Amino acid sequence: MARLDEIPLSWLRDQGMDFIVISCPEDEARWEAERLAAFTRAAAHAGLDRYLAPTGYGKVLDPDPAIPSLYLHTHPQTLQVDSRGRRCAKACPNDPRFLEWFAGSMRTLAWMVEARGFVWDAPSFYHSRGVWACRCSYCQRLFSAAAGQPLPRSLTPEVLDFRRRSLSLFLLAAAAAIQSVDRRLQSVVAPPPPLDPSTSTTGADDWRQLAANAGMESLALVVTPEGRGYRLPESDLLQPHSQAAAAEGKPLWLWLATEQLHPELVHEGRILARQLGAEAVVWSDYEGFRRRKG
Ligand SMILES: [Zn+2]
Repeated sequence: MARLDEIPLSWLRDQGMDFIVISCPEDEARWEAERLAAFTRAAAHAGLDRYLAPTGYGKVLDPDPAIPSLYLHTHPQTLQVDSRGRRCAKACPNDPRFLEWFAGSMRTLAWMVEARGFVWDAPSFYHSRGVWACRCSYCQRLFSAAAGQPLPRSLTPEVLDFRRRSLSLFLLAAAAAIQSVDRRLQSVVAPPPPLDPSTSTTGADDWRQLAANAGMESLALVVTPEGRGYRLPESDLLQPHSQAAAAEGKPLWLWLATEQLHPELVHEGRILARQLGAEAVVWSDYEGFRRRKG
């Protein structure tokens, strides 16, 4: 990861970048808030728009399993409960105690750091090798109140739908939290990569539902280069996702998730963005981009 004060912001602007997405890990935002705010001010000064991507924070937003969250250790009673009855390393988005803390943390971040909006990166419920969450008391109560029957022990279509609705409400709450600070703050949801088969069990796999979420202004489509040729997927595979966003009139970002950005990939990314009608491309590998440009 690049150190914030080493990133040449004007240079990025000169390369045609319009905005940057600043990852805001829970621990860093807690201990290094002033540095984060200063960096964001410098980016504004250089003419770059800023989006904040909170990570950690109970790990309902979970783009990377390696990102720590102190919250998980201090609030074990609000963690998701899996189908074996064990707590997982993710807070439950239906637990009101977690929601209150999360909303408060996002309000603090929005006060502290001046940005155009927030990116809600990879919202998800826990699922691993057939074990799923959440069966905490709040989820059980919510499910049975809506369905008129107890929460099943297996991942039935009704349970999958319940998890999707739960994440939709979580995103609405997240958007409402930052807009209580500034009504203009935008929300962009970056669901887990839709072409990854495991995404179907996260609860954030229904793009029509995500696009219809009234709190979200834009959607970010995360793609990862794969295979021996390290190529991007064909646009046909991604059309249903871009169409879901377009049907709701929501702009799409193409988010190229790679640590190894090279010229062919940049070229392919630009073509794919055009084919999908994406409004913006996000290059996740800042270091690679810089190496390439020198
Ligand atoms: Zn729960």
